[in-house]
Amino acid sequence: MSYILELAKSTSPIIKNGRVFEPNYIPDTVIGRKKQQKEMWPTLSYLMTGQPAHHLLLTGLNGTGKTVMIKSILRDLETVASFKTIYLRGMRDPKPNAVMRDLSEAAGIDLSSKDESVASLIAKLDAHISSTDIPTIFVFDEIDFFFSKDMWAILNYIVREQRMATVIGTSNDLRVLDKIPDKKLASVFKPKEVVFPPYELEELRDILDARAAEALYADALDNTVVPLCAAFAVQHSQGDARHAIFLLSKAAEICFENQRKKVTEADVREAEVSLESEMFDSTKKVLTKRHKDILKLLIERPEMRRAELLEKYEHTSGETISTVWIAKEFRILEDLGLITRWSRGKGKGRGVSWMISLNDDVDKKRLSDFLESD
Ligand code: ADP
Ligand code: MG
Repeated sequence: MSYILELAKSTSPIIKNGRVFEPNYIPDTVIGRKKQQKEMWPTLSYLMTGQPAHHLLLTGLNGTGKTVMIKSILRDLETVASFKTIYLRGMRDPKPNAVMRDLSEAAGIDLSSKDESVASLIAKLDAHISSTDIPTIFVFDEIDFFFSKDMWAILNYIVREQRMATVIGTSNDLRVLDKIPDKKLASVFKPKEVVFPPYELEELRDILDARAAEALYADALDNTVVPLCAAFAVQHSQGDARHAIFLLSKAAEICFENQRKKVTEADVREAEVSLESEMFDSTKKVLTKRHKDILKLLIERPEMRRAELLEKYEHTSGETISTVWIAKEFRILEDLGLITRWSRGKGKGRGVSWMISLNDDVDKKRLSDFLESD
């Protein structure tokens, strides 16, 4: 038999449907999270009578189910109410033009010429939305990214000018609304906030059991596997379901590669090690001594005024650093998902304090061990 046919015949005795483990897979039912659905319902219920829903904001740490929840809710409500969903995934440093093109395409607008201005794209979208009388829901997944630079113009347009449009945002940042740079937008965009707390052990087990039933053959898992994946996710990533599911899928893969028939605790442990080293390897390559010193200060006090942090840094390192340079370093740390820069206070100029905080989902103990180990 040819080698490829041999491989084809040796299909995994473990993995029935690997697609179920992919990051953007939406399961038929979201497990639990009833409280959050109840909180969202009054806001969404307007859709049942053909009116636009009210604005919503789902906040919670990574992997608390915000994306999967909003996608599955809208998918299900579409079967009983008439509305259109336009979904935008968060992107690093979005360009207004690219976002408008994505929005327009998702709305089904024909974009013939390549280089249309944002204003002309907004005009097209405007004409399009004004001509329909079913509500449109714009989902801005990881809405923080859209607050930057000129992006607020687009949000502003949707929130202020569109009678039949709703914005549903998600964010890993519980303070995201304080960070809207535009005062006018902040005064009209007042979404109902729904908080997604970190998953507890039991909840993660239920999520994993459901995922395993879809993805794996019966009896593929040792009894200890799901509880251990859940426990690692609670201990190491504050109940991040993405982490838990990744461990399960990686453990199944490791087991298959070793041509064994049942996934065991040892496979999960190996999966956890590989996940950890993957994460830290990529971070390690980028961090300089300066970054590490800044992070150490933030581990001691996770939220500081920028000026104060700079002062402390200069004091401990003995180095004088220009504001341009330090801004660059902060930007790198922010891009790595380690810190957030934000402003406290209203308006421009004197009333505002520029703040730096260590992200809520960074595990201080692990970061500290990592910084020391190097
Ligand atoms: P967030 O958007 O809050 O970062 P996601 O919605 O992307 O988190 O969830 C992370 C992973 O965990 C996804 O694969 C998602 O399908 C899964 N997940 C999270 N919560 C649930 C749940 N309650 N039921 C089923 N799957 C879930
Ligand atoms: Mg998400």
